[in-house]
Amino acid sequence: MRSAGLVFVFALLSLGARAAEDPSTRDLLKQASAARDAKRWDEALERSEAALKVQPRNADAWDIAGYANLETGRLAQAEECFRQAVKLKPLHTSARFGLARVVLDERRYEDAAERFGQLRKDSPDYCPFWARNNLGYALYQLGRYDEAAKLFDEALKDSSERNVKVWLNAVGNEFGRRNYRRALEISEQATRAFPQDPWVWHKLGWAHKYLKENAQAHAAFQKARELAFPDKGAEPQIALALPFRGCWKVTQGNRGEVSHEGIDDCFAWDFQAVDNDANIYVNKGKKNTDYASFGREIIAPADGTVIYSRDGIRDNEPGEVNPTVTEAQGNAVHIQQPTGEVLRLYHFQKGSVRVKVGEKVKRGDCVGLCGNSGLSDEPHLHFGLVRYTDGNALSCPCCFSSVWTGRGENRARKEKAVPQRGEFVENEH
Ligand SMILES: [Zn+2]
Repeated sequence: MRSAGLVFVFALLSLGARAAEDPSTRDLLKQASAARDAKRWDEALERSEAALKVQPRNADAWDIAGYANLETGRLAQAEECFRQAVKLKPLHTSARFGLARVVLDERRYEDAAERFGQLRKDSPDYCPFWARNNLGYALYQLGRYDEAAKLFDEALKDSSERNVKVWLNAVGNEFGRRNYRRALEISEQATRAFPQDPWVWHKLGWAHKYLKENAQAHAAFQKARELAFPDKGAEPQIALALPFRGCWKVTQGNRGEVSHEGIDDCFAWDFQAVDNDANIYVNKGKKNTDYASFGREIIAPADGTVIYSRDGIRDNEPGEVNPTVTEAQGNAVHIQQPTGEVLRLYHFQKGSVRVKVGEKVKRGDCVGLCGNSGLSDEPHLHFGLVRYTDGNALSCPCCFSSVWTGRGENRARKEKAVPQRGEFVENEH
């Protein structure tokens, strides 16, 4: 029986290599592409891998496997699949597009812009809508806002494709250009086209906020939160250590009106260290070095793997803010927990970030020093937990375990704390 089985496998392999029209492969490929179109990525991967077992030189099967890996965050595997497809069929536009997407997801924007620009427009696989959107996004990240705006405008006119991501990218790009009226216009249209999508309301909230239309901003952010968190009021399940040592003050809490109303940061905190007299700064607070926070060690609040690390952005002077939207987090570190949630820490001092992507960190490890980079007008630490769904970071409620809150007579140990604005907090250990 065993040898008969082997003969059968060999027969299949040689059949696959010779006949391009092998019916079983054709069926598998059909199922794989149907699964891809329906975004059932696990099934698309399984079907395309099955097809490749029979026909390992099928470029389309490699291409589908590439997208299944790409959309589930396995960038290295995706890249390998697309490379195989291009090797077998150098003009495979879909696979070339996939390779450019991998490069884009790796945040290599120059390279990505070049790759999207080089795609063959006369190929039947070429989709102008997605090419414009992705090239636009790369240019937006490179600060080439005007070029990106043209591409997004064209993509938005294309009525054959409806995808909320393009609208969100177009609004982000207008924020980059500081054309807040246009950002408002696009996001208002988006709320009509996708009224159930929390992210369009989130963008609308920011557009109003930039235009200093605070009442409208609050309403839009609230709508976004209602759609994103329908079961509000649940106790936070994830408990972490505070990301610093010593006593710090909460200067903006959950849903804080300065910058924590959006659905990516509504469960975040801003912290500032205090000296023995509870001062956030000495002298007049005009220099970063006047602040107790500036240069203090920031520690990992839990074990995890670094998935993002950025350095090289200048520290602002107190009272000033870096207006570049793509630098809003400043120098930053993102740490992924084994359960998938990501801890995000922002505004590190320039040149102080100590961890690289891929590095494992333990709770308590120093990851950098507190600074004043990005969307920050005083040295402080921004900390929040998010979950990534479909490329968007959704804020995730969490709490701190075994902490001291308050100072002096009011000092009390808490097993679990969700500190509020104005509260003092310190790790017990
Ligand atoms: Zn913040």
